[in-house]
Amino acid sequence: MRAYYSDHFVLPLPPGHRFPMAKYRMIREGVAQGVVSVEFHEAAAATDGVLALAHHPVYVDQVSRGVLPERVQKDIGFPWSLQMVERSRRSTGATIAACRSALEQGVAVNLAGGTHHAYADRGAGFCVFNDAAVAARLMQAERRVKRVAVVDLDVHQGNGTASILANDDSVFTLSLHGQNNYPFEKERSDLDVALPDGVTDDDYLEALEGALSQLMQRFVPELIIYLAGADPHEGDRLGRMKLTLAGLAARDRQVFALGRQHRIPIAVAMAGGYGKKIEDTVAVHVQTISIAAQYTSNIV
Ligand SMILES: [Zn+2]
Repeated sequence: MRAYYSDHFVLPLPPGHRFPMAKYRMIREGVAQGVVSVEFHEAAAATDGVLALAHHPVYVDQVSRGVLPERVQKDIGFPWSLQMVERSRRSTGATIAACRSALEQGVAVNLAGGTHHAYADRGAGFCVFNDAAVAARLMQAERRVKRVAVVDLDVHQGNGTASILANDDSVFTLSLHGQNNYPFEKERSDLDVALPDGVTDDDYLEALEGALSQLMQRFVPELIIYLAGADPHEGDRLGRMKLTLAGLAARDRQVFALGRQHRIPIAVAMAGGYGKKIEDTVAVHVQTISIAAQYTSNIV
């Protein structure tokens, strides 16, 4: 299985910044040590033309030149730098590459990405470009697939993805998220499942099963982009859910089993994870990649 990385494009952050930048390098190291069948590839940068498949060209230009309105830059939560631009382009490029690879080999992963709070014309919540929306549109533009589903299991609603793809019947957006969590004003996905605070493994897995079966009744995708957020974990600072590491393994297996059963390739992006202990977050992500690797040869 191929894994695309961009963690060596480090985005400079002020001391004490709450974004866990180190997690991406730790994920790559954890996968290198623990998952045998993974090939690492550096991600290429997404170009302006590709980003414009899901973003307004004016926004892409403002990001590139560092002339975003102050409020938008503040909502993104990162100070502007050339490295921020390059990192965001590479992370989007990694989801694109993972989609192409998944279509050939069944499963592939982006060791970052899942930046689902980015809208067509503005970023927010540590998200600059919406990698899933860009990659879905590009796979269609390259005539590789017609129908894509974004299965977003990060704890936060995929509001940017829902907004960008709101009037696009060729991409199905599914978001399973915490009803009381950020973003407090939610968008409408094709299927939203809002869960209460403190949800545990059994209730979560039952909700996911129902959501995936509804997805398959309403829409048969040729490619799934899976945002495997680590923030539903019980040790997360922001997640407000109580899933165990074993519960999250069962979550991942449900998604990959669906892919295998229906022969749908799956590209995985990491999305969020803000563990009180960063090692817990990394363990959840590495576990997802390990489970993904087991499914590679079984899907297509
Ligand atoms: Zn999140």
